[in-house]
Amino acid sequence: MGKYTVDENGYYGEFGGAYIPEILHACVEEIQKAYKEILNSESFKQEYYQLLRDYAGRPSPLYYAKRMSEKYGCKLYLKREDCNHTGAHKINNALGQILLAKRMGKKRIIAETGAGQHGVATATVCALMNMECVVYMGKTDVERQAPNVERMKMLGATVVPVTSGNMTLKDACNEAIRDWCCHPEDTYYLIGSTMGPYPYPEMVARLQSVISEEIKYQIKEKEGRDYPDYLIACVGGGSNAAGTIYHYLDDEQVKIVLAEAGGLGVETGQTAATIKLGTVGIIHGMKTYVIQDEDGQITEPYSISAGLDYPGVGPMHSNIAKNGRATVLAVTDDEAMNAGMELTRMEGIIPAIESAHALGVLQKLKFKPDDVVVLTVSGRGDKDLNTYLKYFNK
Ligand SMILES: *Cc1c(COP(=O)(O)O)cnc(C)c1O
Repeated sequence: MGKYTVDENGYYGEFGGAYIPEILHACVEEIQKAYKEILNSESFKQEYYQLLRDYAGRPSPLYYAKRMSEKYGCKLYLKREDCNHTGAHKINNALGQILLAKRMGKKRIIAETGAGQHGVATATVCALMNMECVVYMGKTDVERQAPNVERMKMLGATVVPVTSGNMTLKDACNEAIRDWCCHPEDTYYLIGSTMGPYPYPEMVARLQSVISEEIKYQIKEKEGRDYPDYLIACVGGGSNAAGTIYHYLDDEQVKIVLAEAGGLGVETGQTAATIKLGTVGIIHGMKTYVIQDEDGQITEPYSISAGLDYPGVGPMHSNIAKNGRATVLAVTDDEAMNAGMELTRMEGIIPAIESAHALGVLQKLKFKPDDVVVLTVSGRGDKDLNTYLKYFNK
């Protein structure tokens, strides 16, 4: 077992575990017991990989970004998760978990969503598998991500606007957990990131690890070796980053750089830089870094990107940040928006604003000319056009 992988109790170092209300013990334990055997079974693998290929459109390209490489003085490759069906990496996880839920005999699917990308991915796989789907979404996000709400409804999902807290992702998570407590028997909670009680962080990381599985052979074809010098990804809950680094975690010659959302700046109080500012606490069933005050009250996060606007982070990421395996940099709204525009104009790719945070670290790093850098573009920017336009026309 690797130095950074989860232990048999569901911990990454001191982070992780399953901190859940008594009423959920049985159903979380049921998933803990079922998921490994199911994910390792031949029938699951066959159906999952076939759907990834024929339905989601994998493998996603590994694209050599020539103009950006010249600008940043390295060999920059983009892992194009924006090319996936539904527009982001979220579909990799949603497809895997819906197959698990089906095999566990569950009838009803619930999910939380922030920007709506995970809600859309979940509504999509529920349509595909003919399952009932309820998506919890903060009312603020329902309003600022209207096109994704319409997509979910068209796909047949029920979208429930959540009016507690500041009505964003954290509040949607709370409401989904509340629903689960009321329907533990027939309902499967399809979590969208490497967060929540064990085994979710590990399961979601494994389902996203197809990203680094593909990077291994794609970079070998292009560079003659199966590893890059740098891996770069943005972190909200941490799933696209976990997928990008999964097969390189114990290969210490590969540097890992994670971008978290700095918002208006880490010192302004208007930020979602969880790893920079967080202290160890418990949120949504896991022990991890949380932005909180001395009384343990969770501070409301802020980022221009709805997908990174979360006060916690996955336990795997807290652990590799604490141990120095990963370098974590905060990227502000301004830096991300400019990096997103730069990719648009230099390579003709409009990235999601979340992904633009990963691009924002390029200017903060010093590369050698033959450094091979793989940066994951976690999603496409269609959903963010209004935010981009408003920002650049102000
Ligand atoms: C949801 C989302 C993210 C953030 O989630 P992670 O679990 O940290 O990957 C990043 N990029 C896009 C495009 C997303 O939709």
